[in-house]
Amino acid sequence: MDDEYSEGWWEVPISALEHYGYCPRQCALIHVEQTYEENVFTMRGSLAHDRVDSGDDAANRGVPALRGIPLWSDKLGLRGRADAVEMREGGPYPVEYKIGRRRGIAADLQLCAQALCLEEMLGASVTKGAIFYHEVRKRHEVRIDEDLRGRTLKAIEEIREMLGAQRLPDAPNDARCKHCSLIDVCLPSVVGEPDRLRGLQGALWYHYDVKES
Ligand code: SF4
Repeated sequence: MDDEYSEGWWEVPISALEHYGYCPRQCALIHVEQTYEENVFTMRGSLAHDRVDSGDDAANRGVPALRGIPLWSDKLGLRGRADAVEMREGGPYPVEYKIGRRRGIAADLQLCAQALCLEEMLGASVTKGAIFYHEVRKRHEVRIDEDLRGRTLKAIEEIREMLGAQRLPDAPNDARCKHCSLIDVCLPSVVGEPDRLRGLQGALWYHYDVKES
């Protein structure tokens, strides 16, 4: 085993990059607390991935592609898999499949982490990849440039630190929450508002004291 895998050096799941990019608290709920809630978004996401696994998407037609392949980077401590990797003349080209439409760069971080793994595994340069959004049935091409690489490496280290500390970040309680599968376990409107949380805690202890007396 590599020296880097010493005690306290946590392996980061590639999928955690997207969760962290969307909301660090969502990432911690899934990867620290092992919470997973199915909702309409995750169910549609699973169906989208089933289509990839069955090779039932026409987007890659004519380009040789590997589907559902395991990925890793010993150097960065990453593990996960790619939905598809097209083997193009210009080099490997990862493709990630998402339900819904594009919201920010969260999925780009995941795609970049896949690219970093492919570069280490294959010794080839990965300069581009794509995210296919099922809701709009469109590919969004992503350049794996220095800026995205830097953001991805920073997120990997922040996730590793969060996993090591077993820490649950505060809830931002903003527009992201209504699309989040974990809203019912996260309770952002309660934990994101300290005054409301204190009021509910007070009410809880009041009822407990009344019952016990
Ligand atoms: S409900 Fe909101 S704060 Fe909670 S994990 Fe989801 S996005 Fe983050």
